[in-house]
Amino acid sequence: MKCRICNREAVEKYCELHEKAYRSIVQKYDDWKRAIDISWKEYLNEILKNPYTGSWAKEVAERLMKDGDR
Ligand SMILES: [Zn+2]
Repeated sequence: MKCRICNREAVEKYCELHEKAYRSIVQKYDDWKRAIDISWKEYLNEILKNPYTGSWAKEVAERLMKDGDR
């Protein structure tokens, strides 16, 4: 199976690097949710808007926005 974002061989849905970025996005969302009331979509938007977000995380966030899942 291929990564949903790039064409590398996937571990699960994503390749190793995108999988890592995906996990940290999900993990950080739990922290955010505890601190402020934010929806998954709003959170993904914040990631995309943030100039400090790494390119791997950005690609994952974009993909998740398009698919509308987590
Ligand atoms: Zn990938």
